[in-house]
Amino acid sequence: MNPVATPRGEHETRVKALRERLAAEDLAALIVLDHLSIRYLTGFTGSAGVVVVLPEEMVLFSDFRYRTQAREQAPQARFIEVEGEVSDPLGTVLAEVDGRVGVEKDHLTVLQWERFEPKLRAKETLLVGGLVQDLRRIKSVEEIRAISEACRLTVAVMDRVREIGVVGRSERDVALDLEMWARRHGSDVVPFAYIVAWGPNGAKPHAVAGDAIIGDNGLLVVDIGTTIDGYASDMTRTFATGEVGSECRRAFDVTLEAQEAARGFAGPGSRCSEVDRVARDIIEAHGLGGRFKHGLGHGVGLDVHEAPTLSHRSEDVLKQGMVVTIEPGVYLEGACGVRIEDTVVVTDRGVEVLTPYERGFTIVS
Ligand code: ZN
Ligand code: ZN
Repeated sequence: MNPVATPRGEHETRVKALRERLAAEDLAALIVLDHLSIRYLTGFTGSAGVVVVLPEEMVLFSDFRYRTQAREQAPQARFIEVEGEVSDPLGTVLAEVDGRVGVEKDHLTVLQWERFEPKLRAKETLLVGGLVQDLRRIKSVEEIRAISEACRLTVAVMDRVREIGVVGRSERDVALDLEMWARRHGSDVVPFAYIVAWGPNGAKPHAVAGDAIIGDNGLLVVDIGTTIDGYASDMTRTFATGEVGSECRRAFDVTLEAQEAARGFAGPGSRCSEVDRVARDIIEAHGLGGRFKHGLGHGVGLDVHEAPTLSHRSEDVLKQGMVVTIEPGVYLEGACGVRIEDTVVVTDRGVEVLTPYERGFTIVS
């Protein structure tokens, strides 16, 4: 069970803000299913549960396994122990609601809906998206503290790459070494399987660490993160294991230039699509436009990928207190890949890098 470091008052502030949103949407109640949003609103870290936010109270439904934990972590919520289907007690609670009921559609399965629907038939229901996720975009001081701590640990894990000796070992072996070190030094479950991608494997943006043996004179993409008090961090560096060919070296230099430019441009009020554009323009100007296919970054919080999105399609605008990644990449199929990623927090005048670490061409052995 994860410790709950969030001060109690924070949950009240969050629920109050959510109730204002519900009132604006003319909703009398909201069914929350995403376990990270449940954690955000109540502090409850269990993996099974449903929360209903009502005007005057919050009800947490879970089973006997979480009886004690729910009462300890979420004393402000009324706990209802579920013995069969959650839809039964849920229906009873919602029968008394006067007004429209919202259901967060982002995490609703068809099976859940089939079970909920008969209980909600007498009510006007509305499938709504992202209400809690929207609140989660702007981080409190306490949330930024947790993310910063996770970022510091991630930097320490990254620094291991220079010390442990990577050449001659498999990607998988190096990834496991780093993951274990992260866990041993305070990370909760790591937020994703570490990417250690050697040579041509680095050209796949979502490569998994496999059996390839890391050799000399190539590029090595290392994408890692840690979790502290439930909050994630995300960081990528690309190392060299000696001299590399001119194409791969150029891909490296261009990616670095794009990353620096996007970091320098981003700040409160920047449109996420424009931050993406700044990096993309540089990569395109070097004739590598088609080699950078993914978005520039994403929000980081309780989830390692959350709102807002930094991409050419995004309609989001950066605001002070948002935590996002800036991660351009250039991928040369069959040869190498480069990605340089930092987690940053938006301040009152720009962004502060939470994962400060050497980005220049660094040779490891
Ligand atoms: Zn990453
Ligand atoms: Zn990322």
